[in-house]
Amino acid sequence: MKLVGDLTTAGLRAAQAWTVRREQPEAWREVSRMHGVFLSLLSPGCGPATPRDLIKFLHRPMREWVPLDWDSLPDEVGSFKILGADDLLTGDAVEYGSDYSEALFEDHEAGIDWVPRWARQTFERVERAIYTVLSSAGQEEYVATRQMLIEVPAGTADRVSDELHARGALHTEAYEPLPPDRQFVVGSESWYVPCPTCKWPMHVQGASLACRYPPHFGRFQVTDERDGSGVPRVRGPVVASALSAADVVCVHEAVWRYITVPGVTEVALMRWLADQAGIGGDAVTKWPHKDRWDITVRAGATIFEVDLKDTRSPSKITARPPRARHVVVPDYRAWQVAQLRRSLPAGYEVRTVRAFKTAIRSALKEAR
Ligand SMILES: [Zn+2]
Repeated sequence: MKLVGDLTTAGLRAAQAWTVRREQPEAWREVSRMHGVFLSLLSPGCGPATPRDLIKFLHRPMREWVPLDWDSLPDEVGSFKILGADDLLTGDAVEYGSDYSEALFEDHEAGIDWVPRWARQTFERVERAIYTVLSSAGQEEYVATRQMLIEVPAGTADRVSDELHARGALHTEAYEPLPPDRQFVVGSESWYVPCPTCKWPMHVQGASLACRYPPHFGRFQVTDERDGSGVPRVRGPVVASALSAADVVCVHEAVWRYITVPGVTEVALMRWLADQAGIGGDAVTKWPHKDRWDITVRAGATIFEVDLKDTRSPSKITARPPRARHVVVPDYRAWQVAQLRRSLPAGYEVRTVRAFKTAIRSALKEAR
């Protein structure tokens, strides 16, 4: 497992360097260095012959070109392309890198040598700043602040400041000016489009837009058409609208990835629970003990302690078993349920969000 982790990390670093080779001359040196890492980790003659070959191979899943005993490893390992046809990191690769750097944030004592440097530098400072604010907060401030970072990941600076006061949330360094790669110019104005799922500004490439989180709705296109008030129309699998980018701020990528993205599922489930007849808002505790787990809910005679887990690799969840007995995964990760049931210690109940709602309904019915 360690070998595959090291190979994947070297592949990610080579690929990341490759994507910035035009702006940063030292990127070539990084690609050569990572090629050297591949050669040192694989048996002679098994690795890519040159750094160019390494880049070519990174356009295919490692399972196809690295000779290893893949059958003994979890399915998700080595099964994705690191570079896409557009020569950029694929969504899967970004997600893998984020999953790994996440360990750094959960456990600040963890060794970090194996976390790709690019992931570390981007995320560490902001994450630590937020962590410091949240750990000094009381439970109520904690919930208000966390919920704000989930529900308002972008907006004009004025709106964000108004929300902060209205909610009693703490001031954090979470927000930054809207970065250039998430806005586009039409006419003389700049625009952005919030992701229909998480409301964070979608990434822009030419006229094409997509949320950085792969499970969120596919690709959108900015069209030449404008509506009555001059707003550019956006076409895509679901409705999405362009908004003016003037004075807009959004949460930093680290906050979005580790608080907003999982929070969308958490908050939706909290709302659903509070709306059920027989439960009510008072019986739902959000992030008890400042996030020892995600939700405590009393349904009928049963108290459910729930941890929602939204991660690409089920093996990451089993490596650090949750503190709550009920483990819930988003419906789009239903395939993980069987694997988690198999590999978590006895006593855990693993379900998708949908199946968990059914369990709550039955508990309520029994109580009637
Ligand atoms: Zn999204």
